[in-house]
Amino acid sequence: MKILVLNSGSSSIKFKLYKDDKAIAVGLVERIGEASSKVELKNIDTDEKFSKEQSIKNHEEGLSLVNELFKQSGLLEDLNTLDGCGHRAVQGGAKIMKHCLVTQEVIDEMDKATVIAPLHNPANLAGIRTMIKKAPNVPNVAVFDTAFHATVPDYAYMYALPYEYYEKENIRRYGYHGTSHSYVSRKAAEFLGIGYDNFNVITAHLGNGASISAIKNGKCIDTSMGLTPLEGLMMGTRCGDLDPAIVPYIQKVRGLSPNEVDTLMNKKSGFLGICGYNDLRDVDSQRKKGDDKARLAVQMYAYRLAKYIGSYFAILPKTDALVFTAGVGENASFIRKETCDFIKHLGFDIDDNLNNERSSKIREIGSKNAKLKILVVPTDEEFEIANTTKNLIYKK
Ligand code: AMP
Repeated sequence: MKILVLNSGSSSIKFKLYKDDKAIAVGLVERIGEASSKVELKNIDTDEKFSKEQSIKNHEEGLSLVNELFKQSGLLEDLNTLDGCGHRAVQGGAKIMKHCLVTQEVIDEMDKATVIAPLHNPANLAGIRTMIKKAPNVPNVAVFDTAFHATVPDYAYMYALPYEYYEKENIRRYGYHGTSHSYVSRKAAEFLGIGYDNFNVITAHLGNGASISAIKNGKCIDTSMGLTPLEGLMMGTRCGDLDPAIVPYIQKVRGLSPNEVDTLMNKKSGFLGICGYNDLRDVDSQRKKGDDKARLAVQMYAYRLAKYIGSYFAILPKTDALVFTAGVGENASFIRKETCDFIKHLGFDIDDNLNNERSSKIREIGSKNAKLKILVVPTDEEFEIANTTKNLIYKK
């Protein structure tokens, strides 16, 4: 069974090809819409690389070149010979909060939900529409970021705005990074030998974007991202939680438009806004040189994360584990340490040696005094998408 996973962004397509649950090729189409675009494909078993550099006008041209490289590599005869294609899908709105085979209704709902996810949905849809055109007989599956959070109860997903804003504009918490929270929580349960239906865990997905979820008996009961992926934790360039009154205040005192404030909060804030660097590796090296704003940025990040962990610890009747994942969560031992130090008295006690070990494997980093398991679990969103796609196609 061959499944292609597509993560289509506005100017890029990340792709991975699976054969019977094993990833056999990985690649990237980048700078779509620019003069010097590029497609690269790597055979995972042999490390052999195939690439093409030329202008790529749109996603359709990008996927045509991916098809050519697949043929050249001998890994796939044609996109039409796939058993299925799984698409990372960010928003399906209030109506579609489950993974599903793509139908016209799914496309229409994603189209409508573009107002909530203006950067992601048009790109996701471009990938889906291109696959339908290029490989009309291949089933497409939309794997929604929001689906894992569909179990969050109403009292947790509602905002205390007039109720009609929920009814008419569907303003509520949706949550994002669901495929990652789902994947790492299952892996952690497996690793600890606890049945998933009895597993209570806090999962911290800390990448360029960052979110945290509380999972009770294998079901998500709260998550930090909201209507949009801006709410919650501090991120590379996103501010996370703010006093909402700051928004109209900034508009007034700086004379900014709603779009300009939106850009300020999404692209110019977080680590970047505080210390001038958005990649934590750069922030860390500045901090080591004695830059006080870099020190502040790291402490703010860890403190705000610790507050979320503490609040999820409070609402879970019992917490079996805390999981760190994604670029920051998997690699930045100092973030794990500084975060847990704020809540050590609750039992989040880290073993420094275990925490500082570098590994790409799932591992435990809690000390003997820890009252719960503290784990690092490498995420694999593509695998989760491939697996979900296979299961849905099978069910059909
Ligand atoms: P992701 O979105 O999961 O790919 O995470 C990307 C982010 O992870 C980067 O922007 C970095 O801030 C962070 N990151 C990756 N590797 C390291 C590392 N070795 N140390 C600190 N941060 C890292």
